[in-house]
Amino acid sequence: MAETLDYYELLGVARDADAETLKKAYRKQALQYHPDRNSEPGAEDRFKQINAAYAVLSDPDKRAHYDRFGHEGPGLGAGGNPFAGGINPDDLRDIFGGDVFSELFGSFFGGIPRRDARHGRDVALDLALTLREVADGGDHSVSFRRPGRCQTCAGSGARPGSSPVTCDTCSGQGKVAVSHGFIRMVQGCPACQGSGRVIADPCGDCRGSGVAAEEVTVTLPVPPGVATGQRLRLVGEGAHGKGGGQPGDLLVRIMVKPDPFFERDGDDLVCEVPISFPQAALGASVAVPTLDGKAKVKVPAGTQSGKVLRLRGKGLPRLRGMGRGDQLIRLHVETPSRLSPRQRELLEAFEQISLEEAGEHPEPRRKGFLDKLKEWFD
Ligand SMILES: [Zn+2]
Ligand SMILES: [Zn+2]
Repeated sequence: MAETLDYYELLGVARDADAETLKKAYRKQALQYHPDRNSEPGAEDRFKQINAAYAVLSDPDKRAHYDRFGHEGPGLGAGGNPFAGGINPDDLRDIFGGDVFSELFGSFFGGIPRRDARHGRDVALDLALTLREVADGGDHSVSFRRPGRCQTCAGSGARPGSSPVTCDTCSGQGKVAVSHGFIRMVQGCPACQGSGRVIADPCGDCRGSGVAAEEVTVTLPVPPGVATGQRLRLVGEGAHGKGGGQPGDLLVRIMVKPDPFFERDGDDLVCEVPISFPQAALGASVAVPTLDGKAKVKVPAGTQSGKVLRLRGKGLPRLRGMGRGDQLIRLHVETPSRLSPRQRELLEAFEQISLEEAGEHPEPRRKGFLDKLKEWFD
């Protein structure tokens, strides 16, 4: 350790600083010089000194002793270092808050996992479904690649015939003790990442990772009524977890393919059905597609373009809840665009009669329009 600086100077506080000021000063300095956060030369020494200073000044008895005698003072009690003993863990937790405390001191107070068990990551993919598949739901086979267990070494990472050996650095304990001044910390062993074992002869196929890509097919149950963008999760079907860790999950994002007939509006389906002008005028029974097959709907006489008919319960199953949405049929009256001479002749005759009879049976919209037009120009 470098020369021993005055504890008050180290923390940068006045000699009459109160407990709160000391805490703040210590927190600031400790965060600045913690060796995990500061790789500058001397940072670790400085961190140890800061801890030593705070351990003394935060204890009223030791502080009083230090104020009287300084570093060289006679021991408290029988022999040894008058200032032995570290900082109270509760005090540290209070000073740094839960997260930072765990980061800086967690390995000391909380222990570390014995093995290098790592949760496998989640694997994401898209699944395209037709509207009919959405309506039916049910099991779907999905094939994909994921980081799986290396078959050659059964996931151990060691060349077949060999096995991982005990780590020399930590003698298989998975952790090593490090002293930071008054705080003796136990850290995960850097040589074996805490597993206690190292691979001396790595598997050639996975280079010691224990992981190899694999092609798999799994069965995904799809609930009826799912929509584009929704995600389904298959627990444990993601990437292989290392060191005996849990595998990740498979996350499947649903994409519903466009349908030639239907547009989706929540649980309702909307389809546009063209009808002819005579069908609209006379009324008709027209064939429409539904999810359950072809159906006949009755178009009432005198139907205007844009009228919507509703087929109750012919929409999609409700994902949450009972029953199904509706199917909406929007009728579009199609004006003939290419007339044969015969059609033209009949339509002209039709229009002639319409004009002659307009006085008796005027069409309400057209009459209203013509009346307004007349007013406008008068
Ligand atoms: Zn392998
Ligand atoms: Zn080790």
